[in-house]
Amino acid sequence: MAIGYRDFSQFLREHFDCKMQKIAINAGFTCPNRDGSKGRGGCTYCNNQTFNPAYCTPTQSITKQLEEGKQFFGKKYPDMRYLAYFQAYTNTHGDIDRVMAMYHEALAVDKVDGIIIGTRPDCMPQELLDQLAELNKRKWVMIEYGAETSHNTTLDFINRCHSWEDTVDATLRTVKAGIPCGLHLILGLPGEDEGMILSTIKRVSQLPLDTIKLHQLQLVRGTRMTKDVEEGLYNVQHYTIDEYISLCCKVIQHTSPSIAIERFVSQSPDDLLISPRWGLKNYEFTNLLNNSIKKLGVKQGELLNS
Ligand code: SF4
Repeated sequence: MAIGYRDFSQFLREHFDCKMQKIAINAGFTCPNRDGSKGRGGCTYCNNQTFNPAYCTPTQSITKQLEEGKQFFGKKYPDMRYLAYFQAYTNTHGDIDRVMAMYHEALAVDKVDGIIIGTRPDCMPQELLDQLAELNKRKWVMIEYGAETSHNTTLDFINRCHSWEDTVDATLRTVKAGIPCGLHLILGLPGEDEGMILSTIKRVSQLPLDTIKLHQLQLVRGTRMTKDVEEGLYNVQHYTIDEYISLCCKVIQHTSPSIAIERFVSQSPDDLLISPRWGLKNYEFTNLLNNSIKKLGVKQGELLNS
């Protein structure tokens, strides 16, 4: 149980009466910010090397991926139930019937009680949302949008090819459809200081969201951003672990208590990650964060109106 903030396990306990585990799957979707339907070249921090035909044409079916995930997690917790997490790329980008068939395939797998769909805020047509709202009456459905920041100048700079207004629109339509909704945000994008990051958290806190999921900006090999930084075109924040934990505490203080915070860090593969290289396992980061929360007496939302 997290200290000082409402975490994702608490959110799941409010929806399910047993232990739930997410299983990430790659359903072979692509990205509209690369295939030309929204943009080309992709977001500047996104690793081009992972965008290849082999990754986008998974050799294993959705069912097989979920069965393998269940086998892995089920060894330790035989009674575990599961959520299929459509994580890779833009999991609503495609023909609606084909997309819905993928969600149905996942939900047909034994012990899979729900799906979480990761996508972009500009890729949620109302027709698909209506069908998801119908599905959500029978099975648990959640949508997670990659917002990354509330600042359009930053979104333009990193070539996201969508706006904060798209995020607000998608969030409000999703909540209106009765579907749990989360946002993904990146802390430390180029040009964003602490004030800009906290203003995003305050704007996010005004939305009727269920969750946010955060991670530090990572410079990864093979990305446009890494090339630009190496060429000295601009720089990005290189947080030390203490600086980043201090930032996370402030984020907690500015986040509405009605929003669960799913995570604060992410770890790219070691051979691709350039910075930050903190060398911490997730649980080690959580321990350091918890220590700071306790020491400073941090409480979620206490500075929301500051
Ligand atoms: S971060 Fe997502 S939207 Fe951006 S280029 Fe990569 S896959 Fe596409």
